[in-house]
Amino acid sequence: MCRHLGWLGRDVAISTLVLDPPHSLRVQSYAPRRQKHGMMNADGWGVGFFDRATPRRWRSTTPLWGDVSFDSVAPALRSHCVVASVRSATIGMPIELSATAPFTDGRWLLAHNGVVDRAVLPATASAEPICDSTLLAALIFSRGLDALDEVILQLGADDPNARLNILAANGSRMLATTWGDTLSVLRRADGVVLASEPYDDDPNWQDIPDRHLVDVTPDGVTITALRGSR
Ligand code: GLN
Repeated sequence: MCRHLGWLGRDVAISTLVLDPPHSLRVQSYAPRRQKHGMMNADGWGVGFFDRATPRRWRSTTPLWGDVSFDSVAPALRSHCVVASVRSATIGMPIELSATAPFTDGRWLLAHNGVVDRAVLPATASAEPICDSTLLAALIFSRGLDALDEVILQLGADDPNARLNILAANGSRMLATTWGDTLSVLRRADGVVLASEPYDDDPNWQDIPDRHLVDVTPDGVTITALRGSR
Protein backbone atom coordinates (compact mmCIF):
# COMPACT_ATOMS: atom_id res chain seq x y z
CA MET A 1 0.00 0.00 0.00
CA CYS A 2 1.17 3.38 -0.78
CA ARG A 3 0.79 6.37 1.49
CA HIS A 4 -0.82 9.59 0.37
CA LEU A 5 -1.48 13.11 1.66
CA GLY A 6 -3.77 15.93 0.61
CA TRP A 7 -4.03 19.59 1.55
CA LEU A 8 -6.77 22.15 0.99
CA GLY A 9 -6.43 25.54 2.65
CA ARG A 10 -4.19 28.59 2.57
CA ASP A 11 -1.03 28.71 0.52
CA VAL A 12 1.73 26.76 2.31
CA ALA A 13 5.21 25.62 1.34
CA ILE A 14 4.99 22.05 0.09
CA SER A 15 8.03 21.05 2.17
CA THR A 16 6.02 21.78 5.33
CA LEU A 17 3.51 19.09 4.36
CA VAL A 18 5.65 16.46 2.64
CA LEU A 19 9.19 16.71 4.03
CA ASP A 20 9.43 18.53 7.36
CA PRO A 21 7.01 16.84 9.83
CA PRO A 22 8.51 14.09 12.02
CA HIS A 23 6.46 11.40 10.25
CA SER A 24 6.16 13.11 6.88
CA LEU A 25 5.69 11.27 3.60
CA ARG A 26 9.48 11.34 3.31
CA VAL A 27 9.76 9.35 6.55
CA GLN A 28 6.81 7.17 5.53
CA SER A 29 8.76 6.28 2.38
CA TYR A 30 11.11 4.16 4.55
CA ALA A 31 9.37 3.87 7.94
CA PRO A 32 5.57 4.07 7.73
CA ARG A 33 3.84 3.56 11.08
CA ARG A 34 0.43 2.25 10.05
CA GLN A 35 1.09 0.44 6.80
CA LYS A 36 -0.70 -2.93 6.68
CA HIS A 37 0.52 -4.11 3.28
CA GLY A 38 4.18 -3.75 2.37
CA MET A 39 6.97 -2.44 4.57
CA MET A 40 8.22 0.66 2.80
CA ASN A 41 7.38 2.94 -0.11
CA ALA A 42 10.52 2.99 -2.20
CA ASP A 43 9.07 2.61 -5.70
CA GLY A 44 8.72 6.29 -6.46
CA TRP A 45 6.79 9.34 -5.37
CA GLY A 46 4.69 12.13 -6.76
CA VAL A 47 3.75 15.60 -5.61
CA GLY A 48 0.88 17.32 -7.40
CA PHE A 49 -0.28 20.82 -6.61
CA PHE A 50 -2.51 23.52 -8.01
CA ASP A 51 -0.91 26.62 -9.44
CA ARG A 52 -4.09 28.74 -9.41
CA ALA A 53 -6.38 26.42 -11.44
CA THR A 54 -3.62 24.43 -13.14
CA PRO A 55 -2.56 21.05 -11.71
CA ARG A 56 1.20 20.50 -11.86
CA ARG A 57 3.10 17.35 -10.97
CA TRP A 58 6.62 16.33 -10.02
CA ARG A 59 6.97 12.56 -10.08
CA SER A 60 9.87 10.12 -9.84
CA THR A 61 10.40 6.36 -9.81
CA THR A 62 13.18 6.66 -7.19
CA PRO A 63 12.70 6.87 -3.39
CA LEU A 64 11.62 10.22 -1.95
CA TRP A 65 14.13 9.96 0.90
CA GLY A 66 17.04 10.34 -1.53
CA ASP A 67 15.73 13.11 -3.76
CA VAL A 68 18.02 16.04 -3.02
CA SER A 69 16.62 18.13 -5.89
CA PHE A 70 13.07 18.01 -4.55
CA ASP A 71 14.42 18.64 -1.05
CA SER A 72 16.08 21.80 -2.36
CA VAL A 73 13.12 23.14 -4.33
CA ALA A 74 10.11 22.10 -2.17
CA PRO A 75 10.44 25.01 0.32
CA ALA A 76 9.96 27.39 -2.62
CA LEU A 77 6.86 25.59 -3.99
CA ARG A 78 3.69 26.98 -2.45
CA SER A 79 0.12 25.91 -3.02
CA HIS A 80 -3.34 25.93 -1.50
CA CYS A 81 -4.12 22.43 -2.76
CA VAL A 82 -1.77 19.43 -2.83
CA VAL A 83 -2.03 15.68 -3.55
CA ALA A 84 1.18 13.77 -2.78
CA SER A 85 2.04 10.09 -2.61
CA VAL A 86 4.88 7.65 -1.98
CA ARG A 87 4.59 4.30 -3.75
CA SER A 88 5.01 0.66 -2.88
CA ALA A 89 4.35 -1.06 -6.20
CA THR A 90 1.95 -4.00 -6.13
CA ILE A 91 3.51 -7.26 -7.39
CA GLY A 92 3.25 -7.36 -11.17
CA MET A 93 2.75 -3.63 -11.63
CA PRO A 94 5.31 -1.68 -13.65
CA ILE A 95 7.64 0.77 -11.91
CA GLU A 96 7.39 3.72 -14.25
CA LEU A 97 6.05 7.26 -14.27
CA SER A 98 2.73 6.26 -15.86
CA ALA A 99 2.08 4.15 -12.75
CA THR A 100 3.09 6.86 -10.29
CA ALA A 101 0.43 8.96 -8.58
CA PRO A 102 -0.90 11.56 -8.64
CA PHE A 103 -2.79 10.97 -11.86
CA THR A 104 -4.60 13.83 -13.59
CA ASP A 105 -7.24 14.57 -16.18
CA GLY A 106 -6.19 18.21 -16.29
CA ARG A 107 -8.72 19.19 -13.62
CA TRP A 108 -8.25 16.73 -10.79
CA LEU A 109 -5.21 15.18 -9.13
CA LEU A 110 -5.81 11.65 -7.83
CA ALA A 111 -3.87 9.04 -5.85
CA HIS A 112 -4.81 5.43 -5.08
CA ASN A 113 -3.68 3.53 -2.03
CA GLY A 114 -4.50 -0.12 -2.58
CA VAL A 115 -5.01 -2.75 -5.23
CA VAL A 116 -7.81 -3.82 -7.57
CA ASP A 117 -8.06 -6.73 -9.98
CA ARG A 118 -7.46 -5.29 -13.45
CA ALA A 119 -10.05 -7.73 -14.80
CA VAL A 120 -12.85 -5.65 -13.23
CA LEU A 121 -11.58 -2.41 -14.81
CA PRO A 122 -12.36 -1.35 -18.38
CA ALA A 123 -9.92 -3.00 -20.77
CA THR A 124 -7.37 -1.02 -22.73
CA ALA A 125 -5.95 -1.78 -26.13
CA SER A 126 -2.39 -1.91 -24.81
CA ALA A 127 -0.52 -5.21 -24.74
CA GLU A 128 1.74 -3.89 -21.99
CA PRO A 129 0.87 -4.40 -18.33
CA ILE A 130 -0.69 -1.19 -17.07
CA CYS A 131 -0.82 -0.38 -13.38
CA ASP A 132 -4.19 -1.02 -11.71
CA SER A 133 -4.14 2.47 -10.20
CA THR A 134 -3.58 4.09 -13.61
CA LEU A 135 -6.62 2.28 -15.03
CA LEU A 136 -8.65 3.02 -11.92
CA ALA A 137 -7.84 6.73 -12.14
CA ALA A 138 -8.93 6.75 -15.80
CA LEU A 139 -12.21 5.07 -14.86
CA ILE A 140 -12.91 7.56 -12.06
CA PHE A 141 -12.09 10.52 -14.31
CA SER A 142 -14.38 9.18 -17.03
CA ARG A 143 -17.28 8.67 -14.60
CA GLY A 144 -16.69 12.04 -12.92
CA LEU A 145 -15.69 12.61 -9.31
CA ASP A 146 -19.31 13.19 -8.26
CA ALA A 147 -19.78 9.46 -8.89
CA LEU A 148 -16.74 8.44 -6.81
CA ASP A 149 -18.87 6.70 -4.17
CA GLU A 150 -20.76 4.70 -6.82
CA VAL A 151 -17.55 3.62 -8.57
CA ILE A 152 -15.96 2.47 -5.32
CA LEU A 153 -19.06 0.54 -4.24
CA GLN A 154 -19.25 -1.16 -7.64
CA LEU A 155 -15.56 -2.12 -7.72
CA GLY A 156 -15.75 -3.28 -4.12
CA ALA A 157 -18.61 -5.59 -5.11
CA ASP A 158 -16.86 -6.78 -8.30
CA ASP A 159 -13.55 -7.47 -6.52
CA PRO A 160 -14.08 -8.38 -2.86
CA ASN A 161 -10.31 -8.31 -2.30
CA ALA A 162 -9.93 -4.77 -3.60
CA ARG A 163 -8.47 -2.04 -1.41
CA LEU A 164 -9.71 1.29 -2.65
CA ASN A 165 -8.41 4.25 -0.70
CA ILE A 166 -8.68 7.18 -3.11
CA LEU A 167 -7.53 10.76 -2.57
CA ALA A 168 -8.44 13.44 -5.13
CA ALA A 169 -8.53 17.23 -5.27
CA ASN A 170 -9.38 19.90 -7.83
CA GLY A 171 -8.15 23.07 -6.16
CA SER A 172 -11.38 23.87 -4.32
CA ARG A 173 -12.54 20.46 -3.16
CA MET A 174 -10.83 17.37 -1.80
CA LEU A 175 -12.42 13.89 -1.80
CA ALA A 176 -11.19 10.68 -0.22
CA THR A 177 -12.43 7.16 0.41
CA THR A 178 -11.45 4.55 2.94
CA TRP A 179 -11.80 0.98 1.70
CA GLY A 180 -9.30 -1.42 3.21
CA ASP A 181 -6.66 0.91 4.60
CA THR A 182 -6.12 3.78 6.99
CA LEU A 183 -6.87 7.50 6.58
CA SER A 184 -6.77 10.37 9.05
CA VAL A 185 -7.88 13.99 8.95
CA LEU A 186 -6.34 17.02 10.65
CA ARG A 187 -8.33 20.24 10.78
CA ARG A 188 -5.84 23.09 11.11
CA ALA A 189 -6.58 26.80 11.45
CA ASP A 190 -5.20 27.33 7.94
CA GLY A 191 -6.67 24.29 6.20
CA VAL A 192 -7.38 20.56 6.20
CA VAL A 193 -4.93 17.66 5.83
CA LEU A 194 -5.99 14.17 4.78
CA ALA A 195 -3.28 11.54 5.14
CA SER A 196 -2.93 7.76 5.10
CA GLU A 197 -1.31 8.18 8.49
CA PRO A 198 -0.69 11.21 10.75
CA TYR A 199 2.51 13.10 9.96
CA ASP A 200 3.00 13.98 13.62
CA ASP A 201 1.59 13.19 17.06
CA ASP A 202 -0.84 16.11 17.23
CA PRO A 203 -3.83 14.80 19.25
CA ASN A 204 -6.21 16.55 16.87
CA TRP A 205 -5.75 13.95 14.13
CA GLN A 206 -8.98 12.02 13.69
CA ASP A 207 -9.04 8.53 12.19
CA ILE A 208 -11.62 7.95 9.45
CA PRO A 209 -13.52 4.63 9.77
CA ASP A 210 -13.25 2.08 6.96
CA ARG A 211 -15.67 2.34 4.02
CA HIS A 212 -16.32 6.05 4.29
CA LEU A 213 -16.27 9.03 1.95
CA VAL A 214 -14.64 12.29 3.04
CA ASP A 215 -15.61 15.51 1.27
CA VAL A 216 -13.59 18.65 2.07
CA THR A 217 -14.59 22.11 0.85
CA PRO A 218 -13.82 25.58 2.21
CA ASP A 219 -17.07 25.17 4.19
CA GLY A 220 -15.82 22.15 6.13
CA VAL A 221 -15.34 18.39 6.26
CA THR A 222 -18.17 15.90 5.67
CA ILE A 223 -17.68 12.20 6.47
CA THR A 224 -20.33 9.71 5.30
CA ALA A 225 -20.55 5.93 5.22
CA LEU A 226 -20.24 4.15 1.89
CA ARG A 227 -23.16 1.79 1.87
CA GLY A 228 -23.26 -1.07 -0.57
CA SER A 229 -25.15 -4.31 -0.77
CA ARG A 230 -22.39 -6.18 1.06
N1 GLN B 1 -1.60 -0.91 -6.86
C1 GLN B 1 -0.91 0.36 -6.90
C2 GLN B 1 0.49 0.24 -7.45
O1 GLN B 1 0.94 -0.81 -7.81
C3 GLN B 1 -0.87 0.99 -5.53
C4 GLN B 1 -0.04 0.21 -4.61
C5 GLN B 1 -0.12 0.65 -3.20
O2 GLN B 1 -1.07 1.26 -2.73
N2 GLN B 1 0.90 0.29 -2.51
O3 GLN B 1 1.17 1.21 -7.54
